[in-house]
Amino acid sequence: ATSEKPREEMVTTHRARSAAEIRADFPILARQVHGKPLVYLDSTASSQKPQSVIETMNTYYQSYNANVHRGVYEISEEATAAVERARVKIARFIHARHSKQVIFTRNTTESINLVAYSWGNANIHSGDLIVLTEMEHHSNLVPWQLLAQRTGARLEFVPVTEDGLLRQDIYDELLTYHPRLIAFTHMSNVLGTINPVQEMIARAHAVGATVLVDGAQSVPHLPVDVQALDADFYCFSGHKMLGPTGIGVLYGKRELLEAMPPFMGGGDMIRTVKLQASTWNDLPWKFEAGTPAIAEAIGLGAAVDYLNDLGMEWVIEHEHEITAYALERLQEIPGLTIYGPRALEQRGGVISFTLGDIHPHDLASILDQEVGVAIRAGHHCAQPLMERYDVAATARASFYVYTTTEDVDALVQGLQKAQQIFS
Ligand code: PLP
Repeated sequence: ATSEKPREEMVTTHRARSAAEIRADFPILARQVHGKPLVYLDSTASSQKPQSVIETMNTYYQSYNANVHRGVYEISEEATAAVERARVKIARFIHARHSKQVIFTRNTTESINLVAYSWGNANIHSGDLIVLTEMEHHSNLVPWQLLAQRTGARLEFVPVTEDGLLRQDIYDELLTYHPRLIAFTHMSNVLGTINPVQEMIARAHAVGATVLVDGAQSVPHLPVDVQALDADFYCFSGHKMLGPTGIGVLYGKRELLEAMPPFMGGGDMIRTVKLQASTWNDLPWKFEAGTPAIAEAIGLGAAVDYLNDLGMEWVIEHEHEITAYALERLQEIPGLTIYGPRALEQRGGVISFTLGDIHPHDLASILDQEVGVAIRAGHHCAQPLMERYDVAATARASFYVYTTTEDVDALVQGLQKAQQIFS
């Protein structure tokens, strides 16, 4: 797990493939719903999985299923090696200096909670300032609210403009109060906004703040280099990046992780245990108590292989093309309001919208029933953002590597149908 190539030696060769070809790798995309081909436009909630990920997990269960880091026998050693290989792949994918900095968790939510409890309890004190933003997912709000309640810290929020951008002037103003911690999302799961993370981190570091980035929506869709960003903590989920559910990652700077106490106690995370006290294992295992999600970690490694094969530059370019096409076609629908940045460079493949006074849930069920299009409707785990825009809910279409312009056409057709039904 520790012998890694230096960053400049990492070479990836990409195969130029169309989204139509890519679709063939995703068995679920061949199914029908309500007698129509499934059009899946909810990858922001969870992505579909390619055959290679499914097969990789099946192979583990069929041929070397065993617990890891424990058995001194062939199949346990194979399983341990496979998990650690996956960790190295993931570390390289996000350009971590070392795979020890990649902690396996269940998801982004658990990664953020790990930091809020372990780092937060040790470093945040009464009266300290924690800066968040109005566009955060509940996962990047509630753990900090709990931390503030435990410690007496204060929370302040960077507001969002009408166009879905963070008010950088207010961010700078908040920095003058020397926050201890700043946590924000790299890309909004509602507005699609891609935040200027690198500059925001540099400005935060200039006043001595520690920064956690919620990368749940960025790692699946953009090239991410945690070292170039200089992020202190960076969190993401496997299931949104072609991998399985039940596996996520916390990346952290080594000196921070080394200094942090364990989050959960149990097997695997210890070096020695006496009846009254114990000592801790090395990174990353210090934070991985209990049997890990073995098949899922290996499956996430296969998802990273798949994304590397496409190339993350291709992924973002493809999503920009689909998003540009969708933004243009959605203009054909009278009464449709789109939330989020106007400029394509500032947004990823997520489009939240409302259509007149049709409830987003009604829209989503008509799209499902009439044209087989799966979109999300609701508050998207971002209730404060809904309040900011004075809406109870929005509809949201989101795109990924397998999305085609035909999928967008089906969405537009479904929205036209919904308008007819409600007119
Ligand atoms: N942060 C953002 C921006 C998200 O979009 C999501 C999931 O939708 C999460 C955090 C939480 O991810 P998970 O439910 O996998 O922990």
